[in-house]
Amino acid sequence: MASSEVHEDAEALYEDAPVAYASTLVDGTIIRANRTLERWTGFDRAGLIGARRLQDLLAPGGRIYYETHYAPLLQMQQSVREIAVELVRADGGRLPVLMSSSLVTDCEGQPVAVRTTFVGATERRRYERELLSARLDAETRARSAVALVHAHDAVLLVDDEGRIELLNPAAERILGVSSADAVGRLAEDAIESWREISGVPVGRVPEASETRVVPAPRGEHERWLAVAAVDAGDGVVYTIRDVTGERELDRLRSDLVATVSHELRTPLTGVYGAAVTLSGRHDELTPEGRRGLLEMLVEQTRRLVRIVDEILVATRLDTGAFESEIDVFDVREALAVLDSTPGAHRVLVSAEEPLLVRADLDRLRQAVGNLVDNALKYSTGPVRVEVEPRSLFVRIAVADEGPGIPAGERERIFEKFFRLDPDQRSGVSGTGLGLYIARELVVRMGGRIGLLRGEGGARFYIDVPAG
Ligand code: ADP
Repeated sequence: MASSEVHEDAEALYEDAPVAYASTLVDGTIIRANRTLERWTGFDRAGLIGARRLQDLLAPGGRIYYETHYAPLLQMQQSVREIAVELVRADGGRLPVLMSSSLVTDCEGQPVAVRTTFVGATERRRYERELLSARLDAETRARSAVALVHAHDAVLLVDDEGRIELLNPAAERILGVSSADAVGRLAEDAIESWREISGVPVGRVPEASETRVVPAPRGEHERWLAVAAVDAGDGVVYTIRDVTGERELDRLRSDLVATVSHELRTPLTGVYGAAVTLSGRHDELTPEGRRGLLEMLVEQTRRLVRIVDEILVATRLDTGAFESEIDVFDVREALAVLDSTPGAHRVLVSAEEPLLVRADLDRLRQAVGNLVDNALKYSTGPVRVEVEPRSLFVRIAVADEGPGIPAGERERIFEKFFRLDPDQRSGVSGTGLGLYIARELVVRMGGRIGLLRGEGGARFYIDVPAG
């Protein structure tokens, strides 16, 4: 290759390098510039050389920086590297660049000129901006992830094929699955009752829905879920809340209203009828007739008081405003009152030995009283109350010879308002609160209550801590 060609190449390289060059005097006056600088700034050679100082090409911020820092630094250390500034173009536009300079000195070390290069930083700026937005994005995602982790409701993302892409801890809890097992699997396979929960055939995207409340029993337990689904483009986001408690509350509320109105009505009608007869036809009635009506008044009023009491006690138990006073006493003290209950002649108590228990006397009386009342109410034969020491407890058993409790209902009879015969076809009335109250009282004393298995009649027991 001829040396002129090499020279030409070097010249071309200088002029059209991907970097802009400028040589200046120490005060910044431009004495040489390459074509790249002309192109980038939009000034021609005449507009640059001798016509402008380097700092005149910079945007105001860069110009101030040049005067206060850049030039002094250059004097001190002979070179400055890669300072981000903006070139102001002839048309007013700006171009981000990285500016580097080195000082040229004469043989005595006196500065005579400055060589400056500008490297385009648009790409780099874009890259930095993208980096920043990616970081913000990642932070937003990270924050969303935190929100998802702490959300009380289940959140589930299911893709177009029906596979689970993501589920939060609440979803694991409510749906009874683990993220590790479920992610990547078909929701239908991974989640019990998914068809009911999603409300659409598998593979179909639900319409943007209002919240639906669906039954989704878990094993033997009743459970209700409120489900909302939103189409997220390439999948569906489900938000699921367990509303079993709320439904239960609704049910209890309507049970309470039904029980109160139903249970109070019968005795009230009796009381009203007897009172009207007594006041309107007092003189026509025989003394026996009057006594009969008065007895009916007493009986029905007692029943009314009892119903209202039960409801009040149950409410106090629910609101936690119920404290026990624990003492040590002979269990027979709790049984003594049974002698004065109506129907006492049918109650056979066998508790010869004194047995100490640690309990709340009034509450224990009430709990045993409820069992005995039931036994008297639901059977016609004898009711046996027996006391038996067990290692840590003293057991009080109440047995009757009535119809007993069907095996499937052994737990439910302790629920609030639960009655085997809700419509009172058998003619025996009740609120369905007696056993609930008995259980709550006993449990709060540290004891337990239950039903013994066996044929013929019902056999309940209360275990109270031994004293
Ligand atoms: P109630 O006020 O209806 O008696 P309880 O809570 O005391 O309410 O009892 C709940 C239900 O359990 C009763 O309605 C009855 O159906 C059943 N039950 C309770 N005790 C007996 C018993 N000794 N024999 C048969 N059924 C019983």
